[in-house]
Amino acid sequence: TYVITDACVDVMDRSCIRECPVDCIYEGKRQVYVHPDECIDCGACEAVCPQDAIFYEADMPDELSVMVERQASMFVSL
Ligand code: SF4
Repeated sequence: TYVITDACVDVMDRSCIRECPVDCIYEGKRQVYVHPDECIDCGACEAVCPQDAIFYEADMPDELSVMVERQASMFVSL
């Protein structure tokens, strides 16, 4: 899955939402999040993010890996 990191916080450009072919990017209060079970790993969102906030999970810098869990936690009750 792709992961949106905190470079999105308070920016929420939403280019990724427009590009995502499966509409699996959802708006939170201060940033947007990828639904991990719905993402098809196409990479379209990463290419258009003006903040470079989006990473493929396996390519995340170590210091940002906490964001993987945080993103998943956004969807536990859905
Ligand atoms: Fe959507 Fe593709 Fe980004 Fe996954 S990688 S969130 S499917 S645009």
